[in-house]
Amino acid sequence: MAIERTFSILKPDATRRNLTGAINAKFESQGLRIVAQKRIHMTTAQAEAFYGAHSARGFFRDLVTFMTSGPVVVQVLEGEGAILKNREIMGATNPANADAGTIRKEFAESIEANSVHGSDSPEAAAAEIAYFFAGTELVG
Ligand code: ADP
Ligand code: MG
Repeated sequence: MAIERTFSILKPDATRRNLTGAINAKFESQGLRIVAQKRIHMTTAQAEAFYGAHSARGFFRDLVTFMTSGPVVVQVLEGEGAILKNREIMGATNPANADAGTIRKEFAESIEANSVHGSDSPEAAAAEIAYFFAGTELVG
């Protein structure tokens, strides 16, 4: 499998509870390298555009409100098969369904406040990285 890059967000529930280090340790101990990272407070427009694919879903407004409720950490993770590997490290969207040892099983508060975002395809990873980072900010 090839070295890939994927886009990750440590969500407001994670920053609020001071969990950024604990979550980053999960990535690093399982072979993902943080090649870019910054703490931002998303605007409503940014969150709406980022989650545009979900705009017709019933939870969309709540999701935008949650994602703008506090600071987040946006990241680029790099490693062998990083896109799928990160989804495995994260666990299922609903923490009730997440496997033991995953970030969402250990840390998520709810299906909405589930601590992390991770790209779900190579196309999404490329678009999401470009949305938040300039190429010069990625340092492998
Ligand atoms: P994932 O983050 O696992 O890729 P989705 O892309 O389906 O999940 O959903 C994006 C985000 O929307 C989720 O991470 C979660 O924060 C929120 N979400 C998804 N489903 C629900 C739901 N049924 N109720 C509330 N929030 C939800
Ligand atoms: Mg998704």
